[in-house]
Amino acid sequence: MIQPNPESPVNYLPEIDNSYDVIVVGGGPAGSSTAALVAEHGHSTLLLERAELPRFHVGESLIPETYWPLKRLGLIDRLKESAFPRKYSVQFVSEGVKESAPFYFDMYNPHESSVTWQVERGKFDQMVMDRARELGAVVHTSAQVTDVIFEDDVAVGVKVRLLNEDGGRTEREIRSKVVVDATGQSAFISNRRGQRDADPRLKKGTIWTYWKGAHRDPGKDEGATLIMQTPGKKSWFWYIPLQDDVVSVGCTGSMSHMFGKENGDAETVYTRELDLCPAMTKRLANAERCTDYFTTKDFSYYSREGAGNGWVLVGDSFGFIDPVYSSGVFLALKGGEFAADAIHDALQRCDLTGPRLGQWQPLYKQGIENFRKLVYAFYAEDFSFGAFLKENPQYKSNMVDILVGDVFKPGVGDIFDAMGVVEPELDEPLKPVMAS
Ligand SMILES: Cc1cc2nc3c(=O)[nH]c(=O)nc-3n(C[C@H](O)[C@H](O)[C@H](O)COP(=O)(O)OP(=O)(O)OC[C@H]3O[C@@H](n4cnc5c(N)ncnc54)[C@H](O)[C@@H]3O)c2cc1C
Repeated sequence: MIQPNPESPVNYLPEIDNSYDVIVVGGGPAGSSTAALVAEHGHSTLLLERAELPRFHVGESLIPETYWPLKRLGLIDRLKESAFPRKYSVQFVSEGVKESAPFYFDMYNPHESSVTWQVERGKFDQMVMDRARELGAVVHTSAQVTDVIFEDDVAVGVKVRLLNEDGGRTEREIRSKVVVDATGQSAFISNRRGQRDADPRLKKGTIWTYWKGAHRDPGKDEGATLIMQTPGKKSWFWYIPLQDDVVSVGCTGSMSHMFGKENGDAETVYTRELDLCPAMTKRLANAERCTDYFTTKDFSYYSREGAGNGWVLVGDSFGFIDPVYSSGVFLALKGGEFAADAIHDALQRCDLTGPRLGQWQPLYKQGIENFRKLVYAFYAEDFSFGAFLKENPQYKSNMVDILVGDVFKPGVGDIFDAMGVVEPELDEPLKPVMAS
């Protein structure tokens, strides 16, 4: 076997058998956490990732409840030892100028889980993938899965293009009892099965870049995430302080507002929106942009099916809501934990049907619903959280629970009964569904 070489840009390539109990496709937080915990349960596990890690990825801000899946993975000490900035709070700004008091997570729960991190995703994702390796998963990077093999509607393995030592590629067919699709926004299985539905109320696009030397509030606020809405809620900025004095600053708005043909290029739109947000421009006054602009759009969708015979979706491949509450990595890791336990149960019972592999998904969807309704309220033009909580102070703890990610707790969604239906405007009219 080729030995690990930490200096090498290409990860070492352990030999691959012809079959495994579980093949996980995608080595982001969802795939690596699933692979780590399935391997820990004692099942032979292969994790295939098309990129080389560390690789760039958006999504740097964690939320406090991420602590629990990270603890289960045995990664808390490594995070504590890391140089990732500590995040104690989130602060909201409305109308580009009105700064509310920060939400300090430890005010509601004085436990160490209330302190979380702002992570560089390349390094963070590598940390979770390394853990999968340590717990016994066979991990291959530069391994592009080109097909999931179905026989009689049962997933029985994958076709994969592997990188050889000489730089060439080898196509392999590898069999498994379970295929986990953790391919993120590529949503491999649901795209192929035509199961992916966009959320019509969250048709958004984002432009982001990185700045060096931006102002940081002092002390405990130094690592805070700031969420700043521009006037009329037309767009919002994130401000995520990273290590080495770098800050990630992204702007999200409706597709037409961000990427309409008449708008100009990414820099023009970003600068136009920055000018509407004095709370951000003052923080960037002495900062220098240190990367180009990045864009992404149409990221909010669901997969109608979450699991089937021999396969299960986890993380973004199952669905993604919106970046505003930084819920993505938490849901990816939590989903990985849920999925790993369900796969273990299914393998023990020799019942690899969709309902067994996806037994965790009804609860998971309830959690996602809680985030989604709070996201809708954030975008709804005529809704104000400040006014709602002034009239209904008893729901503040429910709101904090959702902000920290405690979305699976019974009763946490009661806040939405008091809020009633709060929905943002559609960016474009719904297309009529034609009867077939
Ligand atoms: C604009 C924006 C901002 C965001 N900000 C935040 C934030 O601040 N905090 C937060 O928690 N979340 C944030 N998110 C969400 C977060 O990035 C995702 O939810 C998270 O990365 C999901 O993890 P995952 O493992 O499911 O997918 P990913 O992290 O995307 O990993 C999927 C992996 O699968 C691999 N892959 C894909 N296809 C194949 C294939 N065919 N074969 C092999 N490998 C494959 C990819 O290379 C990738 O490494 C943001 C998202 C967006 C769009």
